[in-house]
Amino acid sequence: MNTIDLHVHTTASDGTLSPAQVVSLASEQGLQAIAITDHDTVSGYAQAAEAAAELGLEVIPGIEVSTKWEGPIHILGYFIDPDSPQLVHTLQGLVEDRDARNEKMAALMATDGLSVSYEDMKVRFGPVIGRPHFGRILVELGLASSVSDAFDRYIEKGQKYYMPRSFLSLEESISLIRGAGGIAVLAHPFQYRRDDAGLRELIRRGISLGMEGMECRYSGYSPVQTAYLEALAEEYGLLKTGGSDFHGLSKPHIALGRGTAEEVLFVPGDYLQSLKERRP
Ligand code: AMP
Ligand code: ZN
Ligand code: FE
Ligand code: FE
Repeated sequence: MNTIDLHVHTTASDGTLSPAQVVSLASEQGLQAIAITDHDTVSGYAQAAEAAAELGLEVIPGIEVSTKWEGPIHILGYFIDPDSPQLVHTLQGLVEDRDARNEKMAALMATDGLSVSYEDMKVRFGPVIGRPHFGRILVELGLASSVSDAFDRYIEKGQKYYMPRSFLSLEESISLIRGAGGIAVLAHPFQYRRDDAGLRELIRRGISLGMEGMECRYSGYSPVQTAYLEALAEEYGLLKTGGSDFHGLSKPHIALGRGTAEEVLFVPGDYLQSLKERRP
């Protein structure tokens, strides 16, 4: 069985396994290939590629770009050149924006007497720090029972420690990926709470901007949901992709390459083959 996983996070963003650990887990589980798709960074790829070379696993350089179009939308990019100067420049800008937002969140917590040092967080969590990391700190401080409880009570929009950050537009995200030689793909289409007409509107808009694929197989999606998405992808001539959105202990219900216990994920190697055939 030729199984792959095209949606994987590492410690380079908010996963809890390092790129090398993810690669060795993928190899143990008999996956043929994985794509590293950290949020707004490609900094995990080099370590993953190095570890994979020794194990004979294929690692595809990818990214998951946080995007705003009406609401939050995630755009995956595959086969991007991690050294593309434009990509590096834009991602650096996003990290700086995040840093400024995070400093404000840490300062808000400090005014409430919480000992949250953003400097320490950077040392511990690496270059791309997000609210999930703040959630972990709040759990460690005993203020929340879990990261999602921390979101609900402190860091979700509307809560006392929430601060907004900026996002790329759909146009900017897709052109960022294409400019770095990559293929742009709509991630987890059911996450945006759009009905059929709303999803089609998003797909048409994405296609008009150069989006070429859609994630049809995803952790927790039922066979009926997957069949619906695959039919949509075919109707619009989109490449089909799939992946677990593995985050290690940040999302403990999701297993690398296998998804959730309720809906076992299977992403066929053919999906990767089709992506490769589309590479510019
Ligand atoms: P940030 O980009 O730093 O604002 O953080 C956003 C990330 O937080 C998203 O990509 C999600 O992975 C995570 N997130 C958002 N809402 C929740 C929630 N209610 N519980 C757990 N994680 C969440
Ligand atoms: Zn994440
Ligand atoms: Fe996502
Ligand atoms: Fe993801």
